[in-house]
Amino acid sequence: MQPLPQRTSPFLVGEPLPMSKASAFHSHADLETVLVSEIAIKRRLKKLGAEISALYGKDEITAIAIINGAILFAADLLREITNPVRLDCIRISSYRNETRSVGRPQILHSFTLDLTNRHVLLIDDILDTGKTLVMVVQSIKKLGPASVRTCVLLEKQGRREVDFEADFVGFKIPDKFAVGYGLDFAERYRNLPCIGVLKSHLQNPPEWA
Ligand code: 5GP
Ligand code: MG
Repeated sequence: MQPLPQRTSPFLVGEPLPMSKASAFHSHADLETVLVSEIAIKRRLKKLGAEISALYGKDEITAIAIINGAILFAADLLREITNPVRLDCIRISSYRNETRSVGRPQILHSFTLDLTNRHVLLIDDILDTGKTLVMVVQSIKKLGPASVRTCVLLEKQGRREVDFEADFVGFKIPDKFAVGYGLDFAERYRNLPCIGVLKSHLQNPPEWA
């Protein structure tokens, strides 16, 4: 596998923006703080897309998005990639209880495309404990791909339970439960254009879940 060229570092999300300072247009009434604004996401995806396109040269990419979380990210990122792309989606069983993970992830709906001798780019919303990506990368490697790389929109710091590093990272965020831009709480908030932290009274299992 080719070594990775120089990449721009993921923007480190420092002090989350208090809601009073985040423009109402770019946030949501249920958010306590905005971690990553809509504009920051757009800018970062342009860079990531250029880096990914440069790395693969003229090669075709087989992108695999882990749904539902990576849907919005994958849709926008793939439009910034200039290579020919084949797209597949896989679904992983939720092994999370409210906002924390328990147990082991499993593939519920697997790959439909042939991955043998293909350059596979696995796309996920967030790297947290690392268990999901380790498991999926292992399953892909068994299918004899030419290469496997991973791209995550977010990486949570200090949360890894298994040894894993993504090849491309959009943003490093603090250890907070994030929603928006594909990330959900009880399947809600995926459609927010920004990424933020829910107000604490909304982080309990809601009666509408
Ligand atoms: P991991 O296997 O790395 O622990 O976590 C993978 C999955 O857990 C992610 O793909 C995502 O679905 C979920 N997850 C982890 N952290 C968060 C978070 O802060 N917010 C949301 N909405 N989901 C998360
Ligand atoms: Mg997920």
